[in-house]
Amino acid sequence: MEKTYLMVKPDGVQRHLIGKLVQRFEEKGFQLIGAKMFRLTREQAEYHYEEHKDKPFFGELVAFITSGPVFGMVWQGDNIVALSRAMMGKTNPLDAAPGTIRGDYALNTGNNIIHGSDSPQSADREISNFFRPEELMTGDYPVGLPLNTVT
Ligand code: GDP
Ligand code: MG
Repeated sequence: MEKTYLMVKPDGVQRHLIGKLVQRFEEKGFQLIGAKMFRLTREQAEYHYEEHKDKPFFGELVAFITSGPVFGMVWQGDNIVALSRAMMGKTNPLDAAPGTIRGDYALNTGNNIIHGSDSPQSADREISNFFRPEELMTGDYPVGLPLNTVT
């Protein structure tokens, strides 16, 4: 099953949006297999955003993401990387459609509430930066009934 790493950034935590964001992904039908609140170390932040290390905003980005606690989550589901990116909306909230997370909650690119992996390969790399294998549920975790099942 495809996995992704989703993270409520420090601005989302500060604005008490954890519950609302978790609810969106639960209601979509994705399965949560690990979650924790923590603060990124500088090393974790630099590794996480390594692809941006030569960008002018890299220092600001690392300072922001380490500025306070985040809520890191591992989710799984069919096509979850692409679907969760669509739910998040575009990076710049000016381009993010209403109804998306960034479209609904964010005003600027630096403070855009949520991170989501951009490919299954990135997801594996990001998950291993923040979670030990034993912190994640395995395939044994019961998936429950589909949301639209009538019993
Ligand atoms: P994402 O995958 O949609 O999160 O976007 P990117 O991988 O392109 O960028 C990572 C994060 O860096 C974004 O979510 C923003 O928070 C931040 N970022 C991107 N561009 C800028 C910028 O021009 N200025 C600042 N301050 N932050 C930026
Ligand atoms: Mg990215």
